[in-house]
Amino acid sequence: MTTGSMRVSIPRKVFEQLLDAARTHAPNEACGLLAGRDGIVQKFYPMTNADASPDHYSMRPEEQFRAVKEIRRCGLQVIGIWHSHPASPARMSDEDLRLAYTPGVAYVILSLRPGPDRAALCAYRVDAGKPSAIPVEVLD
Ligand SMILES: [Zn+2]
Repeated sequence: MTTGSMRVSIPRKVFEQLLDAARTHAPNEACGLLAGRDGIVQKFYPMTNADASPDHYSMRPEEQFRAVKEIRRCGLQVIGIWHSHPASPARMSDEDLRLAYTPGVAYVILSLRPGPDRAALCAYRVDAGKPSAIPVEVLD
């Protein structure tokens, strides 16, 4: 898939689940998987942030594995890996990039402190450790 064709659409209902999760877990980061098809998210799978940290996250492998199995059983795919930035803008941190090893997936970040020059919700694809912003929209 090329950068140009990759995009993420998030229904308003799912976006609100992300916002809820971000606020509930603040000051720590929240994380989860976005399942859907053709770039359109259908379902949010919240995951435990095993790091319980305000500036990084990791998912528990067994929890992630269970969710991925369920997602495939529903005929969907993991199209996004989501986490929140409670206190910083929605850009990939060095740590985020270091851990962004899943190809073809969108890394979606929701910031509770976006700052003046960046949207609260941003998505990236990562190739060879380099992030490129991809379009992300909330569907009403
Ligand atoms: Zn991050």
